[in-house]
Amino acid sequence: MKPKVELIKGDITKIHADAIVNAANSSLLGGGGVDGAIHRAGGPKILEECRQIRNKQGKCKTGEAVVTTAGNLPAKYVIHTVGPIWNNDEKKCSELLAGCYKNSLELAESLGVKTIAFPNISTGVYRFPKDLAAEIAVQEVKNFQTETIEKIIFVCFDEENEKIYKKLLNE
Ligand code: ADP
Repeated sequence: MKPKVELIKGDITKIHADAIVNAANSSLLGGGGVDGAIHRAGGPKILEECRQIRNKQGKCKTGEAVVTTAGNLPAKYVIHTVGPIWNNDEKKCSELLAGCYKNSLELAESLGVKTIAFPNISTGVYRFPKDLAAEIAVQEVKNFQTETIEKIIFVCFDEENEKIYKKLLNE
């Protein structure tokens, strides 16, 4: 099945989807940007679950993903994935970012998720070039084979990302 791909400009904490993805850091204990927004809007239950995951399996590696419930958010699940910090090793960083999308989608599939929303992982504090990050995101989403996911939403918070995604998705 090929999922529908949508673009929305706005705040991912407001999205009604089965799962929203968080651009977390490897500590899983919260941070700024979209991570801060998700924990603020979702309440303490998400952080508590993150803590339990950390106690059980340690830090989350870059490119990997873990899941919690979504506390007070309109979503059912939050999938926390750790994006790479951009460091000019384009090949390595690109592989790791692709892993974030792929592993999040696989986790979502295993949970029977029908709709999932992604932020623009690594393009904030982690300084991944926005054009390249968007190309990788769109490519991973388009390559993904799924039986359960019907809709994938890219949520762009800033205008620059929105423009980039609009162009890519219309090609
Ligand atoms: P990273 O550390 O992975 O770079 P950031 O949270 O700093 O994570 O930024 C990732 C992206 O999330 C950026 O493009 C930023 O504009 C965006 N962002 C910030 N707040 C929100 C939000 N509430 N909803 C959706 N996207 C957001």
